[in-house]
This record gives sequence, structure tokens and C-alpha cells, in this order.
Amino acid sequence: MLKIDSHTHILPRKLPNWSEKFGYGDFIYLQHHKKGYAKMMRGNQFFREIKENAWNPEVRIKEYEKFNTQVQVVCTIPVMFSYWAKSFDCLQISKFLNDHIADLIEKYPKNYLGLATIPMQDSELAIQELERAKSLGLHGIQIGSNINELNLNEERFFPVFQACEKLGMAILVHPWNMMGQNHMQRYWLPWLVGMPAETSRAICSMIFGGVFERLPKLRVNFAHAGGSFLATIGRIKQGFDCRPDLVAIDNPVDPKKYLGKFWVDSITHDALMLEYVLKLQGSKRITLGSDYPFPLGDLQIGKFIEEMDLDDGVKEDIFHNASLEWLNIPKERFN
Ligand SMILES: [Zn+2]
Repeated sequence: MLKIDSHTHILPRKLPNWSEKFGYGDFIYLQHHKKGYAKMMRGNQFFREIKENAWNPEVRIKEYEKFNTQVQVVCTIPVMFSYWAKSFDCLQISKFLNDHIADLIEKYPKNYLGLATIPMQDSELAIQELERAKSLGLHGIQIGSNINELNLNEERFFPVFQACEKLGMAILVHPWNMMGQNHMQRYWLPWLVGMPAETSRAICSMIFGGVFERLPKLRVNFAHAGGSFLATIGRIKQGFDCRPDLVAIDNPVDPKKYLGKFWVDSITHDALMLEYVLKLQGSKRITLGSDYPFPLGDLQIGKFIEEMDLDDGVKEDIFHNASLEWLNIPKERFN
């Protein structure tokens, strides 16, 4: 069966030293300190060690063969967004990363599909790079759950979403820059608590801000099965009903109406949770996802879904139909 992993991250093997080039800021660069490994450095601070599978397309294809998965949708690592930088510098970084992904998908059209990164802090430049990314053959963009702490309902982002709808570019919303992270450094809480909350923050902002209402054809996928959104939809709906004066101020539509309109990926690490997500979203709105190659991801690429007692049609939807529809790609492309 065709399997498309809708949520994976990749970097070029080499990154320019942007801090030196631009003369400010703690931009990420890579130190290849031993064979097959690199240190991601943020300025002079060690950020994370990555392995060759973060940049080598052949190694990745080999690892995916073990889990019978042919296609990876790749995007950058959120720490590369650089929304905090000067917009023209962020544009330059975005172009560099997008060109790398464009090269990759051209060389391996059966194995890789690409999402771009764009300078969201400047809507005009963001749209310019969005258009360029489309012309390079990328199928959408990945954006953060907040943009320099601004929520996605802010009017300044609306033209970018409008352009995505018009150009038919898909969106992956990925948690990053986690709320409250300075107050919960211990126990990896920014990743375990902050990230799911960030994704719910993004979904709620887009629903209550009327983004989906105004742009019904916009195709958005939310990482990690929508974070804590679906698990707390009852509470969100109750809030909408009991305090419309606080909640329904920009969009009078019931938040539950949007279930099954947007996509979420399958990264739950839990069959019972996935069954629940399936009930709310329907199989056509859950895309196989892994967060490969990072350890908090589902590095067996949906093996737990394979083992679940689901109809073949449901599995087909999760493994490819949902992603194909989200990215607007015909299945024949992979024949
Ligand atoms: Zn991810």
C-alpha cells in the first residue's frame, strides 16, 4: 500500500554561518563534529545533536523501506523559521532552505514532497516567497503555531492565508516557541505540555478568528493530531456556548462545525487516542505522520496503526488518501 508520511523534517547538510553574514543574532548552524553526526548550534550554544538521517536523502529512504513507506513530506525544523530576524534576512534563509527542498523533490519525485518556510513576520515578503515556492514545485508551507507570539487570527496574517487558498498551497501548522517554556524547563515540559497547548492555541485562533470561515478552501493540517485541541473540544464548545461575549466575538459559528474540515496528523503514540481522533475527524482528515527523524516522533512510521483493527479503507485514507487530498496531488503520480 502507498504510504505517505505527512510530517517529517530535513535540513541541508551545510548551513551558512548567518550570524556572521548578517552581523547579529543566534542563527542555527551545523558543526559536523564526527562522521554521521552534527551539532546544531544556536549562536555558540549547543541546541541538539542530529544524525545523518536529518540531511541524507538516501539514508532516509533506506530507513523508510523498513516500514514500507515510500513517500516523505519534508519541511524544515521549526527552529529554522527565524521569524525573529530582520525580514529580508529571514527571506534569504527561507530561500536557501526552500531551494534545497526543491532540489530534493526534483531528484526524488517518487520519495519526497516539499513544504516551504516563509518569512511570516512580513506578509508581503511571505507571499512573494510563497509564490516562488509554488513555482519550484513545493506543495505548501509549514508555519509556526504563533508568529513571534502573535496568534494566527491576527489580520496581518490573513493575506498570507488568502494567498495560500488562491494558489492552492497547503499549510502545516507546527508548534514551536512554546508558551510558558521559561516557567517549565524541567522534565521536558515545553515539549510535553507546551507543544500540545500551542497547537490547540493555533486551531482555536483560526476557528474563532474566522479564518476557516472566510477561507473555506484553505487546506490546513495540524501537527501531533491537533495537540490538545481534540481532547478538549468539549470544553472549548462549552466556553463558546456559555460565554459567547468572550468567545464568539469574531465568528458566530460553533467550533464543532470545523471538525473534519481541517486535517491533523496521526502522531498520537496511542491506538485508543487515534480511535477517538478518527471518530471526531473521520479517516479522510488524518494523515500518517511521524515527526521523523526526532526521538519524540513515531519512528516506526505508523506501525501501531498497521496493527490496529481498522478497515482497509480507513487505513488507505490515513496512509495516503488524506495526505493526497491535503496536498492536492493525484494518486497516479506514485504509480
Ligand atoms: Zn515536527
